[in-house]
Amino acid sequence: MTPFPLPPNATIGLVGGGQLGRMSALAAARLGYRCHILTREVDSPAAQVSHRVTISDYSDSASLRAFADAVDVISFEFENVSAEGLDLLASIRPVRPAPSVLRISQDRIAEKAFLNGAGVATAPWVLVDSPAELAAAVERLGLPAVLKTTRLGYDGKGQATLRAPSDLASAFERLTPKPLVLEGYVDFAQEISVVVARGADGALAAFDTVENRHRDHILDVTLAPARILPDTDRAAQAIARCIAEALDLVGLLAVEMFVDATGQVLVNEIAPRPHNSGHWTLDACPASQFELHIRAIAGLPLPPATRHSDAVMKNLIGPAVLALWPVATAEPGLIPHLYGKAAALPGRKMGHVTRLFPRGGLPGEFGIAAALGPLGTS
Ligand code: AMP
Repeated sequence: MTPFPLPPNATIGLVGGGQLGRMSALAAARLGYRCHILTREVDSPAAQVSHRVTISDYSDSASLRAFADAVDVISFEFENVSAEGLDLLASIRPVRPAPSVLRISQDRIAEKAFLNGAGVATAPWVLVDSPAELAAAVERLGLPAVLKTTRLGYDGKGQATLRAPSDLASAFERLTPKPLVLEGYVDFAQEISVVVARGADGALAAFDTVENRHRDHILDVTLAPARILPDTDRAAQAIARCIAEALDLVGLLAVEMFVDATGQVLVNEIAPRPHNSGHWTLDACPASQFELHIRAIAGLPLPPATRHSDAVMKNLIGPAVLALWPVATAEPGLIPHLYGKAAALPGRKMGHVTRLFPRGGLPGEFGIAAALGPLGTS
């Protein structure tokens, strides 16, 4: 039986070897825990800073069993473990967040149905399993609309914006696996997100609402706090808390939302793990999203998710932006983070930088670009 709160030197098993696991493992180490990473990848960002690593496919039951036996609690930075794999892990050690939470976030249909069932608004959506169903869905939702895979999509992969009737057939053909989901196009004014932690005792701690800007469907810049009306902020915070409670979450949850032209807040997607739009908390908060993740799964008390500074976070993506690393590290005031990935492939998140401002001092557009120095115009 795993004792909670986890005692010092206990081992946290993290599924996934990417940067989210790396930064979670660093936070765990600061709290006196060891991390054991399960990943397919050799020399992964998370394993580089962890106590142990198991390199295996996520579907290999012998490896999953040995991994679970070797740890005290299991959490995730990578969500796409099969239902059977999750059940196997959960039969051996506590899995936080619970497999039921992952099953919802793994599948856009399950996610949207759950959100709508909890009274949370999303873009209108229709399940689509054939070209005829797609035509009928477009008839209902109109164009433009966004066609998405229901599983395994991230950073805009597995989706297509349909603008004209002639786009339907090729998009349906290209996107796999089926079924797909068609979403009404949200002509959003802003994209925002809230990261919220919830302990086993039901205590909640939510970071301030932030504003996210994407480039080529990948997060580029996060502004903390979001420049939104107080009512919008209240709505976003209430939605994030409501979802964490409805999921009976133990762990961390990121909720990505659109603010539409009328100020209505619609949820785009949820992720029950640390999130790129929460990286600013490493530098602008006494306890970061990674610390809250570890505290929640370890059963430690949750500190308030307070922000001592305003912040701008910029991702370093692919070879072109990474080429600015020497300049970025030389720029006074930029706080650099690099993830230890060997190859800077296009679209790959290699690191990020944060710039802090006094609370209430987030500058306007020109100030933000200037504050990012050489990265401001990249
Ligand atoms: P996703 O993979 O669902 O997070 O989508 C990636 C990005 O595509 C979002 O951050 C938006 O910028 C855009 N997007 C996704 N869904 C919609 C939608 N229904 N309407 C407008 N833009 C969308």
